[in-house]
Amino acid sequence: MCIFCDIIDHKIPSSVVYEDDEVLAILDISQVTFGHTLVMPKKHVDSALEADPETIARVFSAASVLGKKIKEKTGAVGVNLLANCGEAAGQTVPHMHVHVIPRYGVSDAIDIAFHPSEKKDLSEVLEKING
Ligand code: 5GP
Ligand code: ZN
Repeated sequence: MCIFCDIIDHKIPSSVVYEDDEVLAILDISQVTFGHTLVMPKKHVDSALEADPETIARVFSAASVLGKKIKEKTGAVGVNLLANCGEAAGQTVPHMHVHVIPRYGVSDAIDIAFHPSEKKDLSEVLEKING
């Protein structure tokens, strides 16, 4: 059982922002910021890491278009497009989705921060990824 598949099948109600044959975008129930939207493929896939390239293209393309529209309509000053892949990365619903999170500056209830870490030898990192 997948809660997002149930939403896609209209077994669970949702607030639909955009829909086509392959993609559904709904308001996130938590509304971390005003206009917070989830964009998902209609075909179940666990996360963006397992999705085929066409699905990735359709979902991220819709997220980009909606991010721009929502930013213009709400007066947000920025937008985060965010895909959590796996529980350790904060994914709580195992059906691929991209968060579209409009940003309003200091009054935001969201804080995405990169904390300083120990300096790494970049050639060692490259060797690990590409070697
Ligand atoms: P994740 O943590 O997996 O990246 O994001 C899952 C998101 O789905 C959360 O932000 C959560 O608020 C949202 N969510 C969970 N259940 C429902 C639901 O039944 N309806 C809607 N609209 N959003 C949901
Ligand atoms: Zn699903």
